[in-house]
Amino acid sequence: MTAAPVGFDLDMTLIDSRRAIMGSFAGVAADTGVPIDPAGVDSRLGIKLEDELAFWFPAEQVPGAVRTYREHYLRLSGPLTTVLPGAREALAAVRANGARAVVITAKYEVTARLSLDGAGLHADELFPGVHGPEKAAVLTALGAAVYVGDTPADMAAAVEAGAHAVGVTTGSFTDRDLLAAGADQVLASLAGFPVLYASLTIST
Ligand SMILES: [Mg+2]
Repeated sequence: MTAAPVGFDLDMTLIDSRRAIMGSFAGVAADTGVPIDPAGVDSRLGIKLEDELAFWFPAEQVPGAVRTYREHYLRLSGPLTTVLPGAREALAAVRANGARAVVITAKYEVTARLSLDGAGLHADELFPGVHGPEKAAVLTALGAAVYVGDTPADMAAAVEAGAHAVGVTTGSFTDRDLLAAGADQVLASLAGFPVLYASLTIST
């Protein structure tokens, strides 16, 4: 029997895209004259772009703001995105076990692919444009054994899908936040993932 797939969130789990995201929101604020509080954006990192922009723009202006954001993001993503510690090794550990390493993210497909390619990371499959319960639906459909993410919503999605919930504190949230949302384990970074994953594959 082949090992069940392992899902990974993208932003702040595999890649550090915070500077590119913050720079893009600053660009939207500058272009539109609408003030956007970076702390507010930071506190919600991981939600869909249109949902974040809805905090700052009336509904009819969100599509235009999405376009403006993406222009900035496509420019800033390459220079400002870095691979988080252990990301490459975590994906490799899953593949070494004969399982697929899939990326499940709220990011749009274009920017998700750009980010993965720019970081030199390879996903066996990409599920873009999903957040919260939508991530749970993807995990359930895949029969995923594990989901790794940096937000309480990621942990809740894993729990809902019956996947082992692994939190990483490389994003905006603490171990307490992630445990309260249902994390089975919390790591300081993906550097600890291969050892944790080995323990899971032995015990199952
Ligand atoms: Mg994230």
